[in-house]
Amino acid sequence: MLIIMGLDSPRKDIDKVKQKIIELNCTPHEIPGSSKLAIGITGPTHLLKEEDFQMMPSVQEVVRVTKKFKLVSRQMKNENTIIEFDKHTIGGKELCIIAGPCSVETREQTFEIAEQLKEMGIILFRAGAYKPRSSPYTFQGLKEKGLEILAEVKSKLGLKIVTEVLNSQSLQSVAEVADIIQIGARNMQNYSLIEEIGSLQKPVLLKRGMAAAVEDLLLSAEYIAAQNNFNIILCERGIRTFETATRNTLDLNAVPVIKQWSHLPIIVDPSHGVGIWDKVPQMAMAAVACGADGLMIEVHHDPENALSDGYQSLTPKKFKELLSKLNELAPIVNKELKLYEHAVSL
Ligand code: PEP
Ligand code: MN
Repeated sequence: MLIIMGLDSPRKDIDKVKQKIIELNCTPHEIPGSSKLAIGITGPTHLLKEEDFQMMPSVQEVVRVTKKFKLVSRQMKNENTIIEFDKHTIGGKELCIIAGPCSVETREQTFEIAEQLKEMGIILFRAGAYKPRSSPYTFQGLKEKGLEILAEVKSKLGLKIVTEVLNSQSLQSVAEVADIIQIGARNMQNYSLIEEIGSLQKPVLLKRGMAAAVEDLLLSAEYIAAQNNFNIILCERGIRTFETATRNTLDLNAVPVIKQWSHLPIIVDPSHGVGIWDKVPQMAMAAVACGADGLMIEVHHDPENALSDGYQSLTPKKFKELLSKLNELAPIVNKELKLYEHAVSL
C-alpha cells in the first residue's frame, strides 16, 4: 500500500501517518518524488484498510500496489530513480558505461586495461577480485590481493570501481573498495547476503540470475529496497534457454518490461549475454536502442590469454569503435554518452 501526501506536508502529519503504520505492525518507507511524497508500506498490508489513512491530515490518496514487489514498483514511484556519482548519473539521460576485464589477473594487466579505458573517458571500471566460476578447477580470482590492485586503480587513476562480492565474510573489504557492489547472477537469490549488502547503503549492481524471471529479479531488488537502499542498478545478463549457439540468451524483452514495472535503472551486459566477442557490439547497440540505461562490457587487452571470459571480451580497439557507434546512437533514444572531460575524441 502507498500513501500519497503533498511534498510540503507538515512533518507532524507525515510522522502521524508513519506512526499509524507502525501501530498496525507494518513498516513505513518515505519515498520523496519531485511533486509528491509517497510513504510506501511493507509488511502484512493485506490487514490494512484504505479508510485507516484516507481521513488523516495531508493524505491525498491511498493506493494498493498490486505487484508482488512493492518499493521498487512503478506504482510506488512513478519517476525514474537516478543514482548520482560525483558529476555523473545512472538512470537519467546519461548512458552509463561500465567496462573492464572479467577478472583482476595481475597488477600490470589491470592497470594496462584501466589506463586505456580511462583515456577513452570511461568512469566506471569493472573487474572481479572474487570470481564465481562454474568449475572449481578454474581461476577463482586474486581475492584480497585483487582488491588491493583495484584500490590502487581507484586512487591512482581516479576510476570508480564496480566489483563483485561472493559472501558475507569478504563483504566489508569489498565494500571499502567498491563504489558499486556487484551481486552476480549466481547470488541473485542469496537473500540473506543481498539484505546484508543492501543495509550498507552503497550502490548495488544486481545481475539477473540465469534461471530467474523478471519478477524474481525485482523481488530480489525489493530485499535491498526494504533496507531503505534505493541505489539499485538492475542488470540483464542473459538467461539459460534451449539455445546453444550462444552462451546465454540475452533477454532484451526484459528492458522495456522492467521500465514499465519499476522505477529502477536497468543496464545490459551483452558480454555474458552472448558469450562471443564479435556479437557483443550488435547486442550492445540493441540494448541501448530498446531503452537500457547503460551497458557493462568486458574488455581485455590480450583476450586470448585472459584467465576468464577472454572469448567474450572486446579488445580496447574494438571497444573504442563500439563507443563511437554508441555516441551516435545515444541521442536517437534521448540519451547522452558522457565521458571524462579528458577523453580522447571518439
Ligand atoms: C561477471 O560480471 O564477471 C560475472 C561473473 O557475471 P554473472 O554473475 O552475470 O555471470
Ligand atoms: Mn566475466
